[in-house]
Amino acid sequence: MRASPIQPTVDFNADGEQHGFLKLPHSHDGSAWGAVMIPVTVIRRGEGPTALLTGGNHGDEYEGPIALSRLASTLKASEVNGRVIIVPFMNYPAFRAGSRTSPIDRGNLNRSFPGKPDGTVTEKIADYFQRYLLPLADYVLDLHAGGRTLDFVPFAAIHLLPDAQQQGRCEAAMRAFGAPYSMRMLELDSVGLFDTAVEEAGKVFVSTELGGGGTATVESVAVALRGVLGFLAHAGVLAAREHGGGETSGDTARTTTLLDMPDGTCFTTSEHDGLLELCKDLGDTVKSGEVIARIYDASRTGVAPVEYRARRSGLLAARHFPGLVQIGDTVAVVADVVERGIPVATNAATSVPVTAPVSF
Ligand code: ZN
Repeated sequence: MRASPIQPTVDFNADGEQHGFLKLPHSHDGSAWGAVMIPVTVIRRGEGPTALLTGGNHGDEYEGPIALSRLASTLKASEVNGRVIIVPFMNYPAFRAGSRTSPIDRGNLNRSFPGKPDGTVTEKIADYFQRYLLPLADYVLDLHAGGRTLDFVPFAAIHLLPDAQQQGRCEAAMRAFGAPYSMRMLELDSVGLFDTAVEEAGKVFVSTELGGGGTATVESVAVALRGVLGFLAHAGVLAAREHGGGETSGDTARTTTLLDMPDGTCFTTSEHDGLLELCKDLGDTVKSGEVIARIYDASRTGVAPVEYRARRSGLLAARHFPGLVQIGDTVAVVADVVERGIPVATNAATSVPVTAPVSF
């Protein structure tokens, strides 16, 4: 296969802190010999594991870009054992447009793997991650949220994998991320996912859904920041981290609730267009058969709404975000509650204040 047209302006094997770009030539009306410049940070100190941290795989999800921008601007090589590669805005054209997919080719990066070196801009980005960055990594964390059309309870997620040992390693990393919820996730359509590419390469992989609605909140950013540090500490990449005092109290009290999405009955898909009334909030307990949503005919009055009932009991883990819904939209996701109150690893051995995002 031909080489990628993407050239990094950083040296992945050099020690120290480097901030540069993945430079993707892109000739267009506004710039004849132009390039898409995807920001990248590499922080390395000697031999050790490599963690690849990504956000902006979808361009309208913001916890990853915020947390990773902050990490990239503050993390020092002296705090690292091995290497951290940070790409906060993976699908950079989509991120700059504030849209899920790329405005250049409408490419959904997370449906474009393994990509093509001679394909669309989005396929070229996928190919570069697949063939150049993934082989460098031992641990991969891909930060997502719901974007403009979905909202989630904040969770870190893994998939059920054929290799039980690999799944166990992913599960341990998920718990180290320490989101309020931890999910064994079912993908309705796993073809083309970055997740699948990373898992098939045998890496330790954790993804997240940390909120949604096309913005980030104080809480969802704090979850992302804590999670990134917990993940890096678990990977053995963080050597030690200086921190201001006072913010680490409460470490021992933090727990996560383990959720599971075992099959398609978790999903409620709209079969109508109209005005959406969700009858449960995120995190609420749901009983099988209970009305979870009503959809009103938005074209007239005097018509009873269509009721949507939960097909299983559990917890409302995701919901449609906008007030109007269209046929085919995911209205709600109800997940099984497997176990509550699982303590989150606080990595005392590395003195990393994983609950202290304000001490960066
Ligand atoms: Zn996403």
